[in-house]
Amino acid sequence: MGEYISQEIIDSILHQADIVQIISEYIPLTRAGRNYKALCPFHEEKNPSFMVSPEKQVFHCFGCGAGGNIFTFLMKWENISFPEAVRIIAQKLGMPISLKEKQTGEKEQFYQINARVAEFFHQQLKKNRVAQNYLYRRGFKPATIDLFKIGWAPCSETFLNFCRTNNLPREKLKELGLIKTSIKDGNEYSYFRERIMFPIFSSSGKIVAFGARVLDESLPKYINSPSSPVFDKGRNLYGLHLACSEMRKSGEAILVEGYTDVITLHQEGINNSVASLGTSLTDSQARMLKRYVNKVFLAYDEDSAGEAATVRGIDLLLENELQVNIISLPRGEDPAEFVRKRGKKAFLRKKQEALPYIDYRIKVAKGDGGSLTLEKKLEIVNSLFSTLKKIKPRHILDDALRKIAEAFNFSEESLRSDFNRF
Ligand SMILES: [Zn+2]
Repeated sequence: MGEYISQEIIDSILHQADIVQIISEYIPLTRAGRNYKALCPFHEEKNPSFMVSPEKQVFHCFGCGAGGNIFTFLMKWENISFPEAVRIIAQKLGMPISLKEKQTGEKEQFYQINARVAEFFHQQLKKNRVAQNYLYRRGFKPATIDLFKIGWAPCSETFLNFCRTNNLPREKLKELGLIKTSIKDGNEYSYFRERIMFPIFSSSGKIVAFGARVLDESLPKYINSPSSPVFDKGRNLYGLHLACSEMRKSGEAILVEGYTDVITLHQEGINNSVASLGTSLTDSQARMLKRYVNKVFLAYDEDSAGEAATVRGIDLLLENELQVNIISLPRGEDPAEFVRKRGKKAFLRKKQEALPYIDYRIKVAKGDGGSLTLEKKLEIVNSLFSTLKKIKPRHILDDALRKIAEAFNFSEESLRSDFNRF
């Protein structure tokens, strides 16, 4: 069952909206005769086969077959339902739609359950001094706790009671991973117990899942909601709903690892920060970033910056034609801790000093400046080559090759021919 939106409203939106204008808010379109073209956002391609027709008010991709009107475009782009797409476009046009008579769709039902549960956790936090003090010690202000709707998951019994008295549907709670059934005795219990709760929001601000942290150092330190009809971890960037407008404005994003990093940076007014939630960035996350920015500042923990998972993630950013700069923080300090100890200005200075990724790799490879054997140099250059293969824009690649040649005293020509054979 979908929400009810009258045909009259749909027609009047189609009449008023211009598909060229709307799509060009998401991807750059170039004129091609009577139509406009672009690289298709829905499949990987080198030459544009994505066409937009202003006359017919439709788009069509000759590569992957995607096509339709503005609603279809938005549904595919944002991975949302038809009524949601209608609402977004209506908003863009300044046409408020009354949703009083709406019948809620299935996804909407999950969002509503999550919203009620998040509110419950949030209220529980306000009753729990120990949990509050933990957050205050981390430097979170009450307004920040409200903004991110941080909460406290009580014991199983209290949560199950809340679900019962509010008639929350059991099956849905299970699908969302909020309630589990014990294999031993078949009894139900709540998955999140006595943990700080971080709601995870979709890009439009709906609560799709939860992350949860223990108060002490017991393990596992963090647990997350499992995948559900409204949550896929690899397709989410934590904090995006608050960061997206600043990201679009500045053309830059600061990518961090964890909840507390994002929350701390936003509290300091560094509003273009999002977290990958773990170091293994996915291709979907890289594409999401590319929708808003061209430049990504990576502020991972020094220890994980060198890990294979991080390097793979950076390769994905480069493949998506994002410029990557590395913010180097002191070993063992994450961005949250750094800002808490040294302040916002110190962090922004670090951001200013951030090295372009290739420069960073060269610096790390050269280490403390001792001389390198030819063998070692070739090994380093080879590992850099596999990263360079991901860089598409010609001028950035040329620039990187020049830097590497200079750094290791190779002639640019011989390096280039080695690279072409790589
Ligand atoms: Zn396509």
